[in-house]
Amino acid sequence: APQIVWFRRDLRLADQAALAAAAAAGPVIPVYILDDETPRHRRMGAASRWWLHHSLTALARQLDERGSRLILRSGSAAENLAKLVAETGASSIHALHHYEPWWRNAETALRKALPPGVQLHLHHGNYLLPPGSVKTGSGTDFKIYTPFWRALNQHMPPSAPLSAPRAMTVPLRWPASEALDAWRLLPRHPDWATGFGDWTPGEAGALAQLEWFEPFASRYDSRRNLPSVEGSSRLSPHLHFGEVSPATVWHRLMGKGGEVETYLKELVWRDYAQNLILSMPDYGNRNGKSQFDALPWRDIEQPTVAAELLAWQQGRTGYPIVDAGMRQLWTTGWMHNRVRMIAASFLIKHLLIDWRVGEQWFWDTLVDADYASNAANWQWVAGSGVDANMFVRIMAPLSQSEKFDAGAYIRRWVPELRELPEPWLHDPTGHGQWVRGYPKAIIGHREARERALAAFAGIKGG
Ligand code: FAD
Repeated sequence: APQIVWFRRDLRLADQAALAAAAAAGPVIPVYILDDETPRHRRMGAASRWWLHHSLTALARQLDERGSRLILRSGSAAENLAKLVAETGASSIHALHHYEPWWRNAETALRKALPPGVQLHLHHGNYLLPPGSVKTGSGTDFKIYTPFWRALNQHMPPSAPLSAPRAMTVPLRWPASEALDAWRLLPRHPDWATGFGDWTPGEAGALAQLEWFEPFASRYDSRRNLPSVEGSSRLSPHLHFGEVSPATVWHRLMGKGGEVETYLKELVWRDYAQNLILSMPDYGNRNGKSQFDALPWRDIEQPTVAAELLAWQQGRTGYPIVDAGMRQLWTTGWMHNRVRMIAASFLIKHLLIDWRVGEQWFWDTLVDADYASNAANWQWVAGSGVDANMFVRIMAPLSQSEKFDAGAYIRRWVPELRELPEPWLHDPTGHGQWVRGYPKAIIGHREARERALAAFAGIKGG
């Protein structure tokens, strides 16, 4: 009997345990469902939709080349899959595990909707170790990253990646598919996304990116914090959409020596974030530390606050490093990690705007927008997370900019400042430099710092 493979954020053929199991069991029907309808299903953001369009195109092409097809459906995943089972006589559905709360709800709904005898088989492979499987000595979930890394690392390397199935049987009759273009995933007025052309979504693009990065992996630690240098792998959207498995990345880079361990440790942050949402499904909109519920965030409905939020979103705060990052995000769907921390800290502490507002903006604009990683990092910066930076450690964007030598990065993304020499470039307002077309700092660092500290001092237990 036919086997349905339900693709989600695992758009690859190699090291795809669901596909491998289905191919071994019978004719394969590959399916992707765009679910914008199920209540509490977090709708994908605009940048992610752009990526999804191209990644599905690439996956469909790969399947075509093997004589197979990608069947597209939209609406509730559970209802669509139950319908497909009825249409095709499939005896099983294979999928990889995902941990976003809405996917777990969809799996529960699907199990209820399936006729007796038809099984949903969930396989592992999107994380280095199955989330929930690494526990502390006393059997509880880890809250803190470093001991989590140590415990996980004892089980590394992960099992060797599977290769793509060599042969796939096709069903006698294909079920109908919707047309990808009808989903209108691409932006209709792309004033943003002008730099998205540098990305190559899809499995081949992911592997090419990994190959590009390989020679730099042993120097990762010295280069990754410098926004002016391309020192990180830029694999994040590929990993998010599962175009390459983390086991594949690990096996490719392990043993490269030098600073590669720092890289593998970063990769483990991805696993760590999934473990957090598995034990705290609403981590994306609820403070890890409840005393933060009382923090007097400024009200974004107020015109002055709304205008400052807009300045942050558009990269017009007058803080060059923040503005460069926010414009890189708007144009390319990605931002350098060090700058993400600086820009997030600026919103939370300098503007005293709730981290959830920033989380939502990143959710819409990042091509790597990931429920768990986004929440874990925003909460880390805010200080509200279960493992977090302290709120009172307020990043100084201007000195961060000098320390990490962001000059070339600023010149690239904030062309108004191109002619300014260092050190003015990092802080034109502080140096009394007025630059045509570039705003003065919307708030002074000292003033902002004092306001944030006062707000924090007011919350109990802080
Ligand atoms: P590399 O430095 O090459 O790292 C390799 C891989 O490890 C990344 O591709 C990513 O999958 C993983 N990784 C690295 N750092 C982290 C981290 N801190 N947390 C989780 N995984 C990590 N990353 C996302 O994938 N999605 C998000 O939505 C996201 N939101 C963020 C929000 C904020 C406020 C901050 C400060 C960071 C966020 N990150 C997020 C983490 C990090 O910035 C990106 O993963 C990284 O910049 C991606 O670039 P890269 O692939 O070159 O990373």
